[in-house]
Amino acid sequence: MNASKISPPAAIAFIGLGNMGFPMAGRLRAAGFQVRGYDANSAVVRSFYGDGGVQPTNAAKAISGAAVVITMLPTGASVRGVLLEDACLAAIQTQRPLLIDMSSSAPADTLALWKILEPSGICLIDAPVSGGVVRAQSGALAIMAGGDAETLDRLKTVLDAIGTSLIHCGPLGAGHAMKALNNYVSAAGLVAAIEAVRVAERFGIDPERAVDVLNASTGSNNSTQNKIKQFVLNGRYDSGFSIGLMAKDLATSAALASSLAAPFPQLLRYSKLWSDAEKHLGSTQDHTAMDVYLRETLSTEQAS
Ligand code: NAD
Repeated sequence: MNASKISPPAAIAFIGLGNMGFPMAGRLRAAGFQVRGYDANSAVVRSFYGDGGVQPTNAAKAISGAAVVITMLPTGASVRGVLLEDACLAAIQTQRPLLIDMSSSAPADTLALWKILEPSGICLIDAPVSGGVVRAQSGALAIMAGGDAETLDRLKTVLDAIGTSLIHCGPLGAGHAMKALNNYVSAAGLVAAIEAVRVAERFGIDPERAVDVLNASTGSNNSTQNKIKQFVLNGRYDSGFSIGLMAKDLATSAALASSLAAPFPQLLRYSKLWSDAEKHLGSTQDHTAMDVYLRETLSTEQAS
């Protein structure tokens, strides 16, 4: 196996050009890598290539000849669905590219994938990200990785083009576990921020002023700083991260905790809250629309 570091102009297959994948693949292209973007949605593939470049018509064609394959898909199940499809699996097993799953997959899915790939001597790391679309565009994502340290080192130049903070969390699946747990903390912080600001509003305090107070105080968190004014108070609810994906991350956290006999009750309650909100609002609604759900639930409860 060639153990050299991966650097431009190496070919990278990038599967999943959605809200996050599109700008992440763009960062790799800007860093000088040959990026072969593929997505099930042909419109985003056309937009990624513009007028230039040969567009792969399926994932196997994007993977063939690539030194690295990055997946940025909704779930670990969708990652397995793509990589284990016959033509993709054949290309991976014969050419042995380094695989990086940057999706927020469940660690159990990642380990199940690894069980199938490991006998062929394929290298896989999990390297999910945090920071949302804004930081994907600027190449300033936080990356939390799991897997073999040597493989991660070979991929450092690739990951440096996407993020500014790379933390090796432990063995394969550790990055995915931390990503789900991070989103539990983030989701709980958003709910607390929305509730505090809406209560302040009912008391007669200008909600923007309430956010200013939180941001100058110990109640400050990522939601008070980057979400409440930007996507909630203006009613835009368009941060680029769906409520379905957030509910999935909390379900992953809850399943992880239960599997480790650590079913902390608040974690399980938050997972149910986000799952109920997803059912109420629809999975494609933005996660910041939790504001709408909380207020609608509140008015229904008051009316009954
Ligand atoms: P998205 O829904 O915008 O994009 C997913 C893309 O995958 C879509 O373009 C879809 O067409 C494509 N896709 C789905 N199945 C496919 C298949 N079988 N073959 C090829 N393409 C397929 O989602 P996103 O917001 O970009 O999130 C991607 C991942 O990153 C998720 O796991 C999410 O939880 C995680 N994430 C999202 C954010 C965010 O702010 N949006 C932040 C951090 C992590």
